[in-house]
Amino acid sequence: MKITLDRKDIESEIIGRLERISGEEFKKCYQCGNCSAGCPVSYEMEVQPTQVMRLLQLGRVEELQKANSMWVCVGCLQCYSRCPKGVSVANTLEALRQVNLRHGEGRIEIKEVGLPFLKTAPQQAIVAGFRKLVG
Ligand code: SF4
Ligand code: SF4
Repeated sequence: MKITLDRKDIESEIIGRLERISGEEFKKCYQCGNCSAGCPVSYEMEVQPTQVMRLLQLGRVEELQKANSMWVCVGCLQCYSRCPKGVSVANTLEALRQVNLRHGEGRIEIKEVGLPFLKTAPQQAIVAGFRKLVG
């Protein structure tokens, strides 16, 4: 018998996987907004840290996968340190990156990074970029 999964099944499967990888329980977030207020790069994010948690609670994972937030996050943990519920948006975005990279989306090959960029970019930026984008 062929089992077909509808979109809702697929979304809840992905969300379950994201919870397992991140170790976070998305429903714990009560939308206070502290994470977005403290995030140093939220102004560059298409979906703010608070909204990341809300979209996951609503099962709207596809919108998150299209947004730049997971790539913009610098992993500073400010969101986690400010969260009264002990939720880490940082871990959540890391899990999203991992799932995307496993599918080959947003992934880069080191050899594709141009030498002029490598010569001028700060070392820290290169290491952080490789950690986030190479998978
Ligand atoms: S870890 Fe990411 S989401 Fe959290 S405050 Fe830092 S940059 Fe923002
Ligand atoms: S600080 Fe915590 S509880 Fe508040 S919106 Fe962010 S993740 Fe949710």
